[in-house]
Amino acid sequence: MSEMSARRDLTTQEWQNAYSGAVMDTFGPPQRILVRGEGAYVWDADGKRYLDLLAGIAVNSLGHAHPTLTAAVSAQMGTLGHVSNFFGTPAQITLAERLLALAEAPSGSRVFFANSGTEANEAAFKMARRTGRPRIVALEGGFHGRTVGALALTHKPAYREPFEPLPGGVEHVPFGDTTALEEAFSPAAVSARGEVAALVVEPVQGEAGVRELPAGYLALARRLTDDAGALLVLDEVQTGVGRTGSWFAYQQPEIGGGVVPDVVTLAKGLGGGFPIGAVIAYGERAATLLGRGQHGTTFGGNPVAAAAALATIGVVERDRLLAHVRQVGETLRRAITTAGNPLVAGVRGRGLLLAVELTRPVAAQVATAALEAGFIVNPVAPDAVRLAPPLILTTDQALDAARFFAEVAVPEPPKEG
Ligand SMILES: *Cc1c(COP(=O)(O)O)cnc(C)c1O
Repeated sequence: MSEMSARRDLTTQEWQNAYSGAVMDTFGPPQRILVRGEGAYVWDADGKRYLDLLAGIAVNSLGHAHPTLTAAVSAQMGTLGHVSNFFGTPAQITLAERLLALAEAPSGSRVFFANSGTEANEAAFKMARRTGRPRIVALEGGFHGRTVGALALTHKPAYREPFEPLPGGVEHVPFGDTTALEEAFSPAAVSARGEVAALVVEPVQGEAGVRELPAGYLALARRLTDDAGALLVLDEVQTGVGRTGSWFAYQQPEIGGGVVPDVVTLAKGLGGGFPIGAVIAYGERAATLLGRGQHGTTFGGNPVAAAAALATIGVVERDRLLAHVRQVGETLRRAITTAGNPLVAGVRGRGLLLAVELTRPVAAQVATAALEAGFIVNPVAPDAVRLAPPLILTTDQALDAARFFAEVAVPEPPKEG
């Protein structure tokens, strides 16, 4: 801390120079250097305030420096901060029970704890392998993480190709295409390529631009996986824990159509900003695929992370944030769409996982203009700006954000010739 306080007068520019001299360049230069946050706001090293409409990519469910979360993390760290998985802790066990209850998971269900989304999906990948079947089906546009198993599930060639060969047996079917999905499970596909171990899908694709699966898709996915004896794995790393207005996105009838999955993976919003991942295995078959000694982690299930998640879930419940997310999300959507900015084509998504659709591929310029105007947003696609604000976003803050989108303009490029 003293080392950092000695540098508290550094400007954003000075910090940016220091960053490029010390931090590996995998993300490009940081847009700003942020020094503190409170609620839905953060402040940069020059003292400028921003309304955080991204929440660390759908992570800071309770905003920044939430007193309940801060107290829970401090209390657990001051009591018992880490023990390894040779031991259990009340926080870890209570969180597992809490997640099973929120998931309305049947008896025999169990939880595995990890530290991130990619690790949760890595565990799901290993569960799929334990079925003894060779094929895993995932979706085009799907994003599941950057470790090699999760990367094999991820579709984007630019992420995959530098690291090939990746673990084999993964096939990608076009997003939302029910015929292609049926083909993947057809007798012809099975006799040519073998049985399907698992189908891995995001109920709403986050990194691909906030794209919701067409109605009925997950119900079909459940029918096909049931008939084939394959696992239905839902990656709710981004959509889980209240983000779309229900604990898990699949629990909304319009998305899930009443399906019960075999596996759900969680991470981003679960710890309210403290790193944690989780795998919920529904029912005894899924829950026993990984046996003793077949998977592990040093930090996973760490009591501080578990306490953070319990506090986050507790506040979502206490403050009725699921209903709040639906209501403020609708306010935000309506205010942006009704403003009539010719640059805005519409808003897609659900709850507080939204994308502002643009009429031109200028999302990067809009995000830069937002930053200048004091709003943090994310150009998730050339023509779409992602909004994933804290679940505690107020109506007034939503209307501030909408005002930015009502007024933002990006000059047309000069016509050729
Ligand atoms: C972010 C994300 C991941 C990866 O999570 P990390 O914590 O970055 O490893 C996996 N799946 C989905 C759907 C995500 O949005």
